[in-house]
Amino acid sequence: LTNRILLAMVLGIAVGSLLNLLLSANALGVSFGALIQTYLIDGVFDVLGRIFVASLKLLVVPLVLVSLICGASALGDSARMGPIAGKTIAFYLFTTGLAVTIALLVASIVAPGEGMNLQTSAEFVPKPAPPLTDVIVNIFPTNPVKAMAEANMLQIIVFALLFGYAMSHAGEPGRRLAGFFRDAEAVVMRMVSLLMEVAPYGVFALLSKLFAGMGASAILDLAGYFFTLAAILVFHGLVVYPMLLRVLAGLSPAVLLQKMRPVWAFAFSTSSSGATIPVTLRTVEHRLGVHNSVAGFTVPLGATINMDGTAIMQGVATIFIAQVYGIDLSMAALFGVVVTAILASIGTAGVPGVGLITLALVLEQAGLPVEGIALIIGVDRLLDMIRTVINVTGDAVASVVVANSEGQLDQEIYHASADTLDAR
Ligand code: ASP
Repeated sequence: LTNRILLAMVLGIAVGSLLNLLLSANALGVSFGALIQTYLIDGVFDVLGRIFVASLKLLVVPLVLVSLICGASALGDSARMGPIAGKTIAFYLFTTGLAVTIALLVASIVAPGEGMNLQTSAEFVPKPAPPLTDVIVNIFPTNPVKAMAEANMLQIIVFALLFGYAMSHAGEPGRRLAGFFRDAEAVVMRMVSLLMEVAPYGVFALLSKLFAGMGASAILDLAGYFFTLAAILVFHGLVVYPMLLRVLAGLSPAVLLQKMRPVWAFAFSTSSSGATIPVTLRTVEHRLGVHNSVAGFTVPLGATINMDGTAIMQGVATIFIAQVYGIDLSMAALFGVVVTAILASIGTAGVPGVGLITLALVLEQAGLPVEGIALIIGVDRLLDMIRTVINVTGDAVASVVVANSEGQLDQEIYHASADTLDAR
């Protein structure tokens, strides 16, 4: 299945790019080209892709809810919850801080925006950011049904933790309910497996449509920015995370990277760590051996507050925009960028393009013109796909590291081959 999903990814990119070439060169003739555009790209591919993303999102709330209730009730005593939450949040904040610092350093050295004179017709109007106090208060739900209807991850997490904790302290009724939620989790996980079966078609449709509409010329104009950013993202995924995994948990990074490949295909094609939660959770629990008392918490939390890839983009974009506008950034401003990039990632959910919106906060904080965002909008779609891959990888690494330190990692599952596990 992994191979089929990856094959679908490659095929989707190839077919999309080919259609893009043919259409932009008018090689299919005007009327046939228009037919392809209307019925194939904006028709079949678009419909299939949107249904696929909807089906993924459908599973997010039920899965997070039942999984976290099971996890919290299995933990039972609150004494263990504290350290798990503390370590997870510390890991997320630390890696995000590290990511943006590396990005600022490398971008300052490479200087992708030095001497560039960019004109752009794109416009960017920033949305006003909610005050930090509201962001904190909004973590606490007033109405669990509303939180679920809005797929507000942080609120669902708070409700599920409380519910699971209370369940484990409610005696016989709690035990009965625990059985129900464990069964429900098994059933929703089964739904995720069913969706995985059709994933190759969904991934193919999404990527064909996206790449058919993606202009490569924008990338050439912004090659310095694009490749600096892409290289740091790859470095973070293939060097920083593996090192953390080795040093903090003594585990082989190659295993994790290999087992994460299907999750990458989902993250890449949907550009949303939120929509990818069901697949991340399934992989982290069933293929990497993280107990759901940890994974049920770390994965949905990570999809919401942990965005290392996004932070890297914000670091590089800040330096790039400062250079294009010829503005020097002081040490204090750079430090402010690190802090704001970390904070900005906390209050926003992992959906496509959200990183650009929070970039406005970062730029404002650094005293840079927010319109600068218009310069990089043209290449952001593809970069969003890549950074979402990094974001979900960070969530998985954190889950494994925290679970390992809490004795909640099944090493046998971690090291077992993916084929054996999938066949179970
Ligand atoms: N699309 C990213 C995510 O869902 C967020 C972003 O950088 O825009 O993780």
